[in-house]
Amino acid sequence: MIIMSTRICKNCNIEKSLEAYNKHPRMLEGRFSVCKVCKNTRQREYHKNYQYENGARLYQCRKADESAREKYSDTYMAVYLRENYKKKSLNPIG
Ligand SMILES: [Zn+2]
Repeated sequence: MIIMSTRICKNCNIEKSLEAYNKHPRMLEGRFSVCKVCKNTRQREYHKNYQYENGARLYQCRKADESAREKYSDTYMAVYLRENYKKKSLNPIG
């Protein structure tokens, strides 16, 4: 007689055989406490959220990069104009 050990999934609360859980060497009984189905669902959700959040962050990064570039080119232009102005040696202030 084979005794099938079962456990209750922490996520869906359904009692399933250990085969329904992924192996994990450091977990109690060497299995995850969440069944494969729930884990897959969670992973998909996580991935979707990650992509969503990452997409937003990437967009902000690009925005920040653009403004940084603008700032840089402004500084560059200011320096360039000042240098050019000096070369003309027509400084009405000094
Ligand atoms: Zn489950």
